[in-house]
Amino acid sequence: MLKHDVVIVGAGLAGLRAAVELRKKGIDAVIVSKVYPTRSHSGAAQGGVNAAFDENDSWESHFFDTVKGSDYLGDQDAIEILASEAPGNILELQSMGVVFNRNDKGGIAQRPFGGQSFPRSCYYADAVGHMMLHGLFDNVLKYKTKILYEYFVTSLVTDNGKVSGVVAYDIKNGKFEGIAAKAVLFATGGYGQVYSSNTNALINTGDGMAVSIKAGVPLMDMEFVQFHPTTLKSTGILVTEGARGEGAYLLNSLGVRFMSKYAPKAMELAPRDVVARAEQTEINEGRGIGGAILLDIRHLGKERIMEKLPQIMQLSIDFEGVNPIYEPIPIRPGAHYSMGGIKTDYNGRTVIEGYYSAGESACVSVHGANRLGGNSLLDTVVFGRRAGIDMAEYLKTADERKFDEKAVKRDEEAFEKLKKSSGKERHGLLKSELQEEMRADVGVFREENAMKKALDKIGELKERARNIGIDDKSKTFNTDIVEAFEFNNILLIAEVITRGAILRKESRGAHYRTDFPERDDSNWLKHTLATLDGSGNIKFDFSEVSITKFKPQPRTY
Ligand SMILES: Cc1cc2nc3c(=O)[nH]c(=O)nc-3n(C[C@H](O)[C@H](O)[C@H](O)COP(=O)(O)OP(=O)(O)OC[C@H]3O[C@@H](n4cnc5c(N)ncnc54)[C@H](O)[C@@H]3O)c2cc1C
Repeated sequence: MLKHDVVIVGAGLAGLRAAVELRKKGIDAVIVSKVYPTRSHSGAAQGGVNAAFDENDSWESHFFDTVKGSDYLGDQDAIEILASEAPGNILELQSMGVVFNRNDKGGIAQRPFGGQSFPRSCYYADAVGHMMLHGLFDNVLKYKTKILYEYFVTSLVTDNGKVSGVVAYDIKNGKFEGIAAKAVLFATGGYGQVYSSNTNALINTGDGMAVSIKAGVPLMDMEFVQFHPTTLKSTGILVTEGARGEGAYLLNSLGVRFMSKYAPKAMELAPRDVVARAEQTEINEGRGIGGAILLDIRHLGKERIMEKLPQIMQLSIDFEGVNPIYEPIPIRPGAHYSMGGIKTDYNGRTVIEGYYSAGESACVSVHGANRLGGNSLLDTVVFGRRAGIDMAEYLKTADERKFDEKAVKRDEEAFEKLKKSSGKERHGLLKSELQEEMRADVGVFREENAMKKALDKIGELKERARNIGIDDKSKTFNTDIVEAFEFNNILLIAEVITRGAILRKESRGAHYRTDFPERDDSNWLKHTLATLDGSGNIKFDFSEVSITKFKPQPRTY
């Protein structure tokens, strides 16, 4: 068994930011990640990170835009922290070595992003996540942080209601390890793999959320899934909102900039939920092109495209066979971001003492029913940092606790059982069926009967999952078994999303019910909290939304 003061699960931006905070104080914190840190999905972020710097901008305006963007479901006490701490966090990152594009005065350049009333998204061409992740990773190395990579965390362990560590599977060597700690942070990212046609890395399987709900920690607002308006038609690979920030148009098959009908003021820079629905409506009503819409950046000119959107150009050529300097890019909405997650307060604390979460795995909640572009990278650094600071404080008084080795044995036995199974089902095929069902029936537009059909399918897949067989019987790098466990995680998350979406009988942000098309503040201005009962069934509770400054208003753009 290994023992450390803090275990940080996840080496994306949230995990690394928390690690820097602990390590610079000399605290014994270990990072555990199922992939090498720089392969975390944060590295794929393209467009930008928001902070109000300009003398004509204000953090209060960023605060309001985010509340409105969240369709008033975001907690205003937390959003105030997000917006007011943003500039300091970005400057701090810069001092740690993260490079941003510059403006004419030599300051940090900023581009417009959807739903923001001022151009406040700081960027590094169209690869800001890559820059931020590598910059923070350098700092983690500077502080000589121990990193266990290719370790897959399977359980959270507690002792008398306090966290006592995690169980992890060492993928390289095929053995289980208990890691005892007084504080544990899950910075395990999102669950984009629940859907087909998503922008996410293959590793984004919501493991941290699945492990948490099984350990008794509520998952909040899981019905809110963001569909990004511009993903490549054939693969779902993201085309950053930064393209529209630079001035791209959306066109239907008639060559019309249709956003004038849906968001006459904001046009292409309306928030993602609004644009994704507009696109899907155009496609459904026969004004798409082979199930897609066109994103046109030709008018920006070759020079600006090569300078500001080089990755987008290359991805379009490589994966869609289209050079955007000369032709518009076929795009469609794709699953992108998990607004919901592990319920935490604004210091990352959960209901279990010593157990924290931050980043996309957590629901603070600053994004409410719809996240604004550029606010997620910000969320990872602001709340990763705060969780790091709070854990350091917590350790000062945290007492010793027992790590129950039986937890390791339990997970080991489950793995062994699966490995020996000669069942006829294959997790890869079950995953494709689940993803396609979720896209079709719990997607951009939702309706009760379709979602009940999705629940039936999930029930069927749960049965069939008992009969998963594993072809690879080896001990080293047995990704067959790891993927089977990941599949079980997305299956559980899919059920939480679907049940929450059936329960919420209104339309708000990214959750649009064709059978309940209006927002209903009198009944539904509240968070959903999903937990498991004694028999493993999902049940729901509710909690209040923090409204400090801005009373809910109709949301138009
Ligand atoms: C293509 C793309 C572009 C984006 N662009 C932007 C943008 O421009 N601006 C913006 O604000 N947001 C953007 N986002 C969203 C943003 O990038 C993410 O929300 C954010 O980076 C998530 O960071 P994280 O640290 O929470 O998790 P991640 O970076 O996803 O890291 C998760 C970590 O958890 C580890 N992990 C997970 N499960 C386990 C397990 N069982 N055991 C061990 N380790 C585990 C992984 O190994 C990984 O290290 C984008 C997202 C995508 C997909």
